[in-house]
Amino acid sequence: MLISELKNYQKSRWLKDFPKMSIYSLRIDQLEQYLVSIGEKSFRANQIFDWLYKKRVSAFNEMNNIPKKLQDKLSEEFEITTLNTLIKQESKDGTIKFLFELQDKYTIESVLMRNKYGNSLCVTTQVGCRIGCTFCASTLGGLKRNLESGEIVTQVLKVQQELDKTGERISSIVIMGIGEPFENYDEMMDFIRIVNSDKSFNIGARHITVSTSGIVPKIYDFANENIQINFAISLHAPTNELRSKIMPVNRAYNIDKLIEALKYYQNKTRRRITFEYGLMGLVNDQREHAEKLVEIIKDLNCHVNLIPINYVPERNYIRTSKKDIFAFEKILKNNNVNVTIRRTQGDDIDAACGQLRAKERAEEVKGGIPDASSIFV
Ligand code: SAH
Repeated sequence: MLISELKNYQKSRWLKDFPKMSIYSLRIDQLEQYLVSIGEKSFRANQIFDWLYKKRVSAFNEMNNIPKKLQDKLSEEFEITTLNTLIKQESKDGTIKFLFELQDKYTIESVLMRNKYGNSLCVTTQVGCRIGCTFCASTLGGLKRNLESGEIVTQVLKVQQELDKTGERISSIVIMGIGEPFENYDEMMDFIRIVNSDKSFNIGARHITVSTSGIVPKIYDFANENIQINFAISLHAPTNELRSKIMPVNRAYNIDKLIEALKYYQNKTRRRITFEYGLMGLVNDQREHAEKLVEIIKDLNCHVNLIPINYVPERNYIRTSKKDIFAFEKILKNNNVNVTIRRTQGDDIDAACGQLRAKERAEEVKGGIPDASSIFV
């Protein structure tokens, strides 16, 4: 990032009241470019990343192999930001939900899931969401703002610092917290490149998953990124009529356009994709839905993840019965579709899929974009 670009970026940010950019928003190549543009050696970027991500300092003057003059310059332009942990809540199954406060007092949630095969962190990409899925809690207050990449990176940093206490490590990341990542595409991609770097958390691309509600134009961009990360699509219904009812985004990007974009993605990347299908009692969980689902995905190399819908008090959906879940699964299996049923984690602390909601304490301070069933007409 050249110094001129840095200035432009500062001007266009959401966090206008905070003039210094978070140093965690910089990819290592951007930091190198910045350093060169101010007459410094690019190798300093490695040293700075080491201080930030390995030694985890909280001030530039602790970076003692960096000349004082450069320390001062960095602290003029950047800030070593952090998140304020307001709540840390642990579930019976070991899942931990964090409520973090941002610089402008908005709050976001991140969820750490502990599995036999490692620790997986679910990160948030927006304060609220404007997509309006009718079963999801994150969209109830509309969208307040996008997160900057550094604000997504610091979720990983804060949780990793917690895990340091027990010698554990975050081994995978799912970009499935509050928000629609493909509506905050550039910051999301920067986040991925930062945590993927062996100079920071070194989370392998195959250990990162991003999920979208189906923002079709961005699927094409994503296909062209040349990165090996896992890709999930929230489908939830097999016909346009039903999907438009439960996911208003389908009115803008319908199933046909979605499947076409996914075929492009698959041709380009050769990677298997995952469809998330939340089973909602008597809404989308009948035999005819399973059969139709088989039909629409048949040309894709994919995997279907059935999610028993989680309870959201403001929403009317009920969970499909166990018997019906297995019946649905069986139809897919009989048609040679790869299918798994997702185990629910953290539902006793409202940390399961779709239960996250930004506690919008800064609501009065700034307006937001309302829940947007009306955006997608
Ligand atoms: N906006 C992105 C990522 C965040 S949601 C997306 O839509 O994919 C992560 C997953 O949780 C999505 O598949 C979403 O549809 C699902 N989800 C939302 N509310 C849910 C609920 N109440 N129960 C189960 N899954 C839910």
